[in-house]
Amino acid sequence: MKKLIYLDYASTTPVDERVLEKMNNYLTIDGIFGNPSSYSHLFGIKAKESLERARNNIANIIGSKPNEIIFTSSATESINLAIKGTVTISNNIKRHIITNVSEHKSVLSTCSYLEKLGIKITYLNNSNIGLIDLNILEKKIKNETILISIMHINNEIGIIQNIEKISEICKEKNIIFHVDATQSVGKYPLNLKNINIDLLSFSAHKFYGPKGIGVLYIKNKFNKIQIKPLIHGGGQEKGIRSGTLPVHQIIGMSTALSIAQTEMKMEIIRIKKLKKQLWDGLRNIKDIYINGNFCNCSPFILNIGFKNIFNKILMSELNNIAISSSSSCTSNTQTSHVLKSLGLTEKLIQSSVRFSFGRFTTKQDIDLTIEHIQYAIKKIRKYY
Ligand code: PLP
Repeated sequence: MKKLIYLDYASTTPVDERVLEKMNNYLTIDGIFGNPSSYSHLFGIKAKESLERARNNIANIIGSKPNEIIFTSSATESINLAIKGTVTISNNIKRHIITNVSEHKSVLSTCSYLEKLGIKITYLNNSNIGLIDLNILEKKIKNETILISIMHINNEIGIIQNIEKISEICKEKNIIFHVDATQSVGKYPLNLKNINIDLLSFSAHKFYGPKGIGVLYIKNKFNKIQIKPLIHGGGQEKGIRSGTLPVHQIIGMSTALSIAQTEMKMEIIRIKKLKKQLWDGLRNIKDIYINGNFCNCSPFILNIGFKNIFNKILMSELNNIAISSSSSCTSNTQTSHVLKSLGLTEKLIQSSVRFSFGRFTTKQDIDLTIEHIQYAIKKIRKYY
């Protein structure tokens, strides 16, 4: 049987054993399973103490204050809360949002929902490598602009937006800046002490934590940023996100983030080598190119176009290698809006494949991947 190789880490990551071990202490009768809102007994108090320690740790790592962290169920929920929450609480004048055509669907679908409610949305276009033109961004700002929402690292092509410069523009114009950092937190350096971000969304399952837990960071700007809750109930998380807090998930997220932070420097060096190894092993194949750009890009993502090769056929030939044709949220139903934003034709979009690397990717995995792809391409070009 062929070895199974996982190269879809941008979609999700497995839970690290060290994380699972910690989480297991927060589930059963022998562990700290209490409801952190039950202050009347020790079970609840212990859970609350553990929860707040985890919040402190997460805040410390991302460079925020603990009271700026709101726990949610996912990055999707954090993004919904950030965008809907700011715009629906604002007055009738501030009703314009700026975002980018290649944002994740959780941003784009939220914006299109708001558009139907009468909110004006400007969708910025990209250059052919996926970068926003900041001069155009500045020109699109109006008096009514309340929020700019731009992702840090794109999940399909890995391009890194200049969020430092965008944050300066937002600060100068007094506009709320939301960053979808789902592909960067835990993987790529980002510290809120060094950059003026007002709202930041991410989730644990992208850095070897569990699925089902996310964070929305809300900058504590003398209560200037107000967020209208999406969920009403027991008033947890300062009333911004009701619902009993999943302490085991939060402990998992905190542990996973600590490990990721400690290992980040070495991991980036290791993964950069693997990405280069893959590209060097494939680049001589006829009619192959990178979508986006190799340099201004996350080391964890490589999106390759194989001209005249239908990606669905290539992926079925590589059935022991987990890769994807676009983001996991769109791959089954639509072609990639991100690749479209680079100006690619439908045919080229359907010839593209995303490889994403992670903690358990080895040099041998890449050797095998190169071998399988070279064989598959020869076969497809001969028989199809
Ligand atoms: N934003 C980006 C850039 C992503 O890659 C993803 C997930 O793939 C999300 C948002 C949504 O994250 P979640 O799965 O935690 O809802």
